[in-house]
Amino acid sequence: MYKLLDGKSLANKLKEELKEEISHYLKKGLRKPSLAVILVGENPASKIYVRKKEESCEYVGINSISYHLPEDTTEKQLLKLINELNNRDDVDGILVQLPLPEHINTKKIINSINPQKDVDGFHPLNVGKLATGIDEGVIPCTPLGIWIMLKHYDIEIFKKNVVIVGTSNIVGKPMGLIFLKNEEATITYCHKNTKNLKEHTKSADILIVAVGKPKLITEDMVKEGVVVVDVGINRLQNGKIVGDVDFDNVKNKAYAITPVPGGVGPLTVVSLLINTVSVYREKNGLGRHPLTII
Ligand code: NAP
Repeated sequence: MYKLLDGKSLANKLKEELKEEISHYLKKGLRKPSLAVILVGENPASKIYVRKKEESCEYVGINSISYHLPEDTTEKQLLKLINELNNRDDVDGILVQLPLPEHINTKKIINSINPQKDVDGFHPLNVGKLATGIDEGVIPCTPLGIWIMLKHYDIEIFKKNVVIVGTSNIVGKPMGLIFLKNEEATITYCHKNTKNLKEHTKSADILIVAVGKPKLITEDMVKEGVVVVDVGINRLQNGKIVGDVDFDNVKNKAYAITPVPGGVGPLTVVSLLINTVSVYREKNGLGRHPLTII
């Protein structure tokens, strides 16, 4: 019988812990941690994500400051707002919801965020810190959430073969860098030009899939006893949300597997809260949040 890596209940537990931690800071006379959330335009999925993030912030006691800007906001206006937020002492974290409308240069926007307030961990300085291990920066939320989950469920990592399918800057690439940090596991990255994907996925002790294609990973592509982390979120025509892994069949061979929904998603949101509390702690001389130490 496989073990279900239940992200939802773990995320709820972590939220309760964060709530208590923040109330402790307030009792000590510190102000609430605060996160500025910027949404440009009307992308329906982005609106849902932003609402979830804002609600979670409020729940644990993070002050979320919302900027819902119209679609025709110019790059210059957005840069001006970010500059103001970079300079505000009462703002700990800044999150710009992606994707941005096409007329705005995403790279330029990410680069403009103060790296110490970059709670998404997308700024090149934070990516560079993770890649080199020189100094510790902010770790992107989805891979951090996956790491926290694997540790929580006592998944053995030392000397394991980790195969990562999908190499985006927000999930796949930083995920591999986290595993590499302490040279514990051996990493294989697979992408759209990988020859014979199955050959690689079959070698995985831990398989992480972040592509955005339903049923990309089928039962014949994994070995017995694999740990499967499915990051994909795909909405089928009937409205059902599924991941990238054929869960119903792959689960029979897995030692442990994440469901979709209720796996990685809730941990991504909670990692944003953890990163926000972590930058707030650093600002107040309390050191990084322990959950961000990998
Ligand atoms: P992305 O930026 O589109 O990256 C997906 C990567 O997979 C791209 O590099 C893509 O290459 C590559 N790819 C395409 N076909 C492939 C194949 N057959 N084999 C291997 N790699 C292939 O997406 P993302 O932002 O990383 O997200 C991936 C999925 O995870 C999406 O479904 C997204 O909704 C979901 N997601 C979930 C969470 C969560 O919290 N659960 C967080 C973030 C993302 P090309 O771009 O060149 O085609």
